[in-house]
Amino acid sequence: MENCTFISSELQDLRARLRAYLFDELIPYEQAQGFGYEDRFSKPEIRKIWQRSHQLGFYGLQVPRALGGKGISIHDLCILKDDVAASGAILFPHVLGDWGGPARIGNLVKYATPDQITRFIEPVVRGEMGTCFAMTEPQSGSDAASIQTRAIVDGDDYVITGCKHYISASAFADYAITMCVTDPDKGVDGISAVLIELDRPGVRLTYDYLPMTGQHVDADIHFDNVRVPRSNLLGEEGKGFKTAIGRISTNRLLHCPTMTGLARQAYQMALHYAQHRQQFGGPISRFQAIQHMLADMATGLYACDSMILAAARKADAGQDIRKEAAMCKLFVSEKCFDIADKAMQIHGNVGVTRNHPVEFIFRRLRLYRIVTGTSEIQRNTIAKAILS
Ligand SMILES: Cc1cc2nc3c(=O)[nH]c(=O)nc-3n(C[C@H](O)[C@H](O)[C@H](O)COP(=O)(O)OP(=O)(O)OC[C@H]3O[C@@H](n4cnc5c(N)ncnc54)[C@H](O)[C@@H]3O)c2cc1C
Repeated sequence: MENCTFISSELQDLRARLRAYLFDELIPYEQAQGFGYEDRFSKPEIRKIWQRSHQLGFYGLQVPRALGGKGISIHDLCILKDDVAASGAILFPHVLGDWGGPARIGNLVKYATPDQITRFIEPVVRGEMGTCFAMTEPQSGSDAASIQTRAIVDGDDYVITGCKHYISASAFADYAITMCVTDPDKGVDGISAVLIELDRPGVRLTYDYLPMTGQHVDADIHFDNVRVPRSNLLGEEGKGFKTAIGRISTNRLLHCPTMTGLARQAYQMALHYAQHRQQFGGPISRFQAIQHMLADMATGLYACDSMILAAARKADAGQDIRKEAAMCKLFVSEKCFDIADKAMQIHGNVGVTRNHPVEFIFRRLRLYRIVTGTSEIQRNTIAKAILS
C-alpha cells in the first residue's frame, strides 16, 4: 500500500513474515496442487490453511489479545489485507480469516458471554471452526430491516424458521451469526442475533447459484423449525439489528484493502505487460494512450490507499466512521473496478481470457459494488450524514 507513513517495526516484521509465507509456502503449494480460482475446496483443505496461518501468528490478528488474537489496529490490518490480496494467492481470503474466520466475527466479540467465547469465538480464532454472518434473505436485501426469519421462544429454546440468502463462507462455516425476528411488532427493535450451529436438525444449505467469480463460497441457509438454546442469543434480545449496523462501518472499510490489493496486482501485471508486449516495433508502453491508462491506475490506487488509511486512523482513534466508511466503500469499489478494466484493456486478448488473473480480478471486483451495501446504499448513507 502506498502512502503508509506510519509503519511500526512490529508491522514491518509481520509483513515480512506474511510475505515469506505467501510467496515461499502458500503460492508454491497452490501451484504444485494445480489449484484454480473456480475449484471447489473441501472444509478440511480450507481448515489446513486457517490452522497454518494461526500457527504462524497471522490468523485472528484483529481479535483482542485476551481472546487469543493480537489486537492490531485497523490501520495495520488494512496494510496487511492489501498485501495478502495483492499476492495473487488463490486462497488469500483464508489467510487472515476473511472467509469464515475471525473477520466474520468483527466487533461482535464484545457482546459474547463467557460461554459463547469458549464455544464459538475462541475455536474460530484458532482456525478450528468457521462462521458466517447471515442477514440477507431472498426478499430482503438493501432493506435489511424487512427480514422475516422468525425465532419463537419455546421454554429454554428458540425455534427458528426462515431462509438466509447468498451467505459468504457458509460453505466452510460451522455456525451462522443469524439475524432473526424475535418480536415482529417492534420493527428493528424486534431483531436479534442468534448463533446457530449448522449441524442442528432442520438446518439445510443449498448451492443453487454461483456468483460470476465461479467461486464456491456462498450458499442459502434454510432453517426449518430449528431448535436452539436461548443461551445462543448474542447480546440482548431486540438489539441484533443495531449490533449488525454497529459492525457494518468497520466491515465496509475492511473490504477496501482487499479491493486495492486485487487492483494493485492487476495494475502491476498491466505495467509489466505494457513494458514487454511488442507492437509496431517496440513496447506498447511507449504509446501515450497506454501511458495515460497506467497513470490513471496509479493515481486511483494512491487515492484509494490514502482515503482507506485516513479512515482507518479515525476508526482507531475511536471516532464514528459511518460516513467515511461509506465513502471508502463507494469510491474504492468503483475505482478498483475501473483499474481492473484498464488492466484488461492493456492486456488485449490475453486479458479477456477466462481465468487469466486480470480477468478473474475484474470479475471479483465487480461483486464489491453489491456486497456489504450497494453503491447506491453507500451514497444514501453519505447523503444522510452530510444533510443531517
Ligand atoms: C457475493 C455475495 C456475497 C454476499 N454475502 C453476504 C453475507 O455474507 N451475508 C449477508 O447477509 N448477505 C450477503 N450478501 C447479500 C448482499 O448483502 C446483498 O446482495 C446486498 O445487500 C444488496 O441486496 P440485493 O442484492 O437484494 O439488492 P436489492 O436490495 O434488491 O437492490 C437492487 C437494486 O436496487 C437498488 N436499491 C435498493 N434500495 C435502494 C434505495 N433505498 N436507494 C437507491 N437504490 C436502491 C440497489 O442499490 C440495487 O442497485 C452477499 C451478496 C453477494 C452477491
